[in-house]
Amino acid sequence: MSASSSSSSTTPTDPSEQPERLRSPAFERWRLSLSNFTGLGLSDEEKERRVLERDWDKCEKYKRDLMSNSPMITFLLSHLKHSGCEFDSSAIQCHPCPETRSGGFSPDHGILMCQNRFFSKKHMEDTLSHELIHAFDHCRFRVDWGNLRHHACSEIRAANLSGDCRWTREVKRGFYSFNKQHQACVKRRAILSVLANPSCKSPEMAEKAVNEVWESCFKDTRPFDEIY
Ligand SMILES: [Zn+2]
Repeated sequence: MSASSSSSSTTPTDPSEQPERLRSPAFERWRLSLSNFTGLGLSDEEKERRVLERDWDKCEKYKRDLMSNSPMITFLLSHLKHSGCEFDSSAIQCHPCPETRSGGFSPDHGILMCQNRFFSKKHMEDTLSHELIHAFDHCRFRVDWGNLRHHACSEIRAANLSGDCRWTREVKRGFYSFNKQHQACVKRRAILSVLANPSCKSPEMAEKAVNEVWESCFKDTRPFDEIY
């Protein structure tokens, strides 16, 4: 404070004016940068917005990386393109989701990646592979998603081929080992997914649909056995 201020007729140091004066742009920047650093002084709404932004940024970064560097994802994307259903990055969208899911495929909206549900890039890679297999099935086989047997078949293939049950590791090693544990994992996951179908009325119905198409759909490893 300059010495002249005390002798001035105005009262620039009046305490009631301080908050106004302190809300200068420089002060605001300083307060925000400290808040960002400590997390203190942020409203819940602001904290929530920051978490959303951080999750979205991470999800988009993983997405870009997977779409250009993951052998599994680039393989599936190239097969979709060859089948006439090209998926560009805008058809794969990051959004926050409830805890019950990590991704989704919709013929109308493309692929949903649940930005708040990935504990690693590998996890997102498995989830994206799973949804791309649904997209591939939809493109190649005209799946009727309201038909539980159709849905069950695509879920069996997606769980089997995506790495949900760690099949891709075997592919990378150049051999396919189907063991009982792997089959049990694929079946369990397929039943859970079919159970979420609005046309499915009970766990028994889901299990029945999966069992009915199991033999042919588990064996069907397209596009992995196709040569182009
Ligand atoms: Zn699925």
